[in-house]
Amino acid sequence: MVDGLKFIVDSNVGKLAKWLRTMGYDALFFEGSDDSQMIATALAENRVILTRDTQIMRRRVITKGQLKAILIQSDEPERQMRQVVDTLELDCQYKPFTICLECNQPLLRRSKEEVKNRVPPYVFQTQSQYMECPTCHRIYWRGTHWQAMTMKLEHLIKG
Ligand SMILES: [Zn+2]
Repeated sequence: MVDGLKFIVDSNVGKLAKWLRTMGYDALFFEGSDDSQMIATALAENRVILTRDTQIMRRRVITKGQLKAILIQSDEPERQMRQVVDTLELDCQYKPFTICLECNQPLLRRSKEEVKNRVPPYVFQTQSQYMECPTCHRIYWRGTHWQAMTMKLEHLIKG
């Protein structure tokens, strides 16, 4: 497993971005349609391209090995994720709970007092670890949604 691996996720495999963020990988979602722009960003920020676009795979920077890209085979998100995890030997418990699932920003640790009145009372009573996104200010805690995603990932990878 390579530490600090970063991704750029083409819009045709967009669901991968959220899964990778759940694992703690920096996964930028590329919304545009200009392949050259995506390749430029990938080169500049040293990101692995994930795409279903065979045209991109024929680009010289990729065939020459200057830039890493994975051509995703399946159109089914869980199989797509499995392919990425297998190919790069990703760790699904890499750094869970560290990246905003919406913005791809590193989360900041928050104390219980800091999130008081910003999370539902039942959450405040039962959770002690909180993280905040500096961009969208969403508060995260290791609640059921996150746990469900992590468990689904583990199941996917071991299965
Ligand atoms: Zn955010």
